Order: sequence, then structure tokens, then C-alpha cells
Amino acid sequence: MKVWQCSVCKYIHKGSTPPEKCPVCGVPAKKFKEIDEASIPEKTPKRKKTIGKSLPGVPKQDKGRAQVPAIKETGFEKIKSLLVRHHAHPVSVHTPNGILPAAVILWLMAWMFDYDLFAGAALINLVFVIIALPFVVFTGILEWKKKYNGVLTMIFKLKILAAALTIISCVISLVWYLLDPQILTTPTAWVFFLINIIMLAAAGIAGHIGGKLVFKD
Ligand SMILES: [Zn+2]
Repeated sequence: MKVWQCSVCKYIHKGSTPPEKCPVCGVPAKKFKEIDEASIPEKTPKRKKTIGKSLPGVPKQDKGRAQVPAIKETGFEKIKSLLVRHHAHPVSVHTPNGILPAAVILWLMAWMFDYDLFAGAALINLVFVIIALPFVVFTGILEWKKKYNGVLTMIFKLKILAAALTIISCVISLVWYLLDPQILTTPTAWVFFLINIIMLAAAGIAGHIGGKLVFKD
């Protein structure tokens, strides 16, 4: 049986031909390269060896290290590579994704018990989300460009859309509450909650897609 690897997300497929479309990142069959079964690492499919093979100029003994660019990176480029290599995006994304549900629950509690303290806590949580988001977006774009060559298949379009929705709804919630601290006691409170639910769902979708890309299942 032949072994094929997606050149974008490194998904491994076994069969006589590559799949029509990568089940993880959605690129077409031509993006799959046949690889040697013995070169599949024990645990997770790593990119090192395939990348080594695709670089004809790299001597055999250096193939395993081909992930490190031949040209020495300096300054900002080096920082960007280090961020991708040390998984800055999946690590940092836990800050907003962890705080967001707490903020929404606190808004709900503030509305149910008519207690401003909960609303204040929700607001502070959203401020932390907004502080964390620029770094999360920056590392997300870096990872997409460096690890996945910036391919724009459906899964990446969805992820970008979900991330954008999260940011927009988060900013709207925050600004809205600051402009109208009595919003939870007005008849339009449901619109405010709807925006918060959209924010939560969008963050969840972005996170789910991220997990699919990382764990390939
Ligand atoms: Zn793929």
C-alpha cells in the first residue's frame, strides 16, 4: 500500500491513490506527495522528513533538520519562526477562549439577579479578551502562513470568518456596555445577549477547527 502525505497540513493517507481532497485542510489530491512508510514518525506526523525530501539541495544527513531554514534568520523573522515552532497560537488562544464563556455567564447572572457586580466582572473579562486577541490573531496568521503556506481552502476561510466574528462581537459587547451600562435592564437586552452568544459560538468554531488542524481527526 502506498502512503501519501498532505503537503499543507501533513495529514497521512494510506491507499493506492491520494484522497480526492484532504479531509483535514481540504486541499486537492495534487497537493499530496507519496512518502516512504518507514519515514512516518511513531507519534504525530511531523513535517521534517517530507520537507527534507522536497529540498533537493539538502544533503542526506541534513534532511531531518531541513525544517530549519538554510538562510539564517535574524531579528523579527527569527522571533516569528520561534513563535510558530513553539506553538504560540494554540497556547495563547486559551486565554480568550477560557475567559469568554465566563464573561457570558457573568452577563447572564447580572441580568438574572440584577446585580451590577457581575456585569462589572463580565466587562473586565472582556477587556482581558480584547487585550489577548491581537497576539492570538498575529500568531494565528503566522502559523497559517508558515505552517500551511497560507492556503485558502474552506476550513481556513471558516476559521478566519469565525475569528473575525469573535473579535467584532467582543468589541460590540464591550463598547455597547460602556455606552449604556443599563443595557441589561432594557428590552433590547436580548440583542446584547445574542451578540454574546454569537461571540461564544464563533470562538468555539474557530477553536474546533484549530483542534482539527492540530490533531487531524
Ligand atoms: Zn491537508
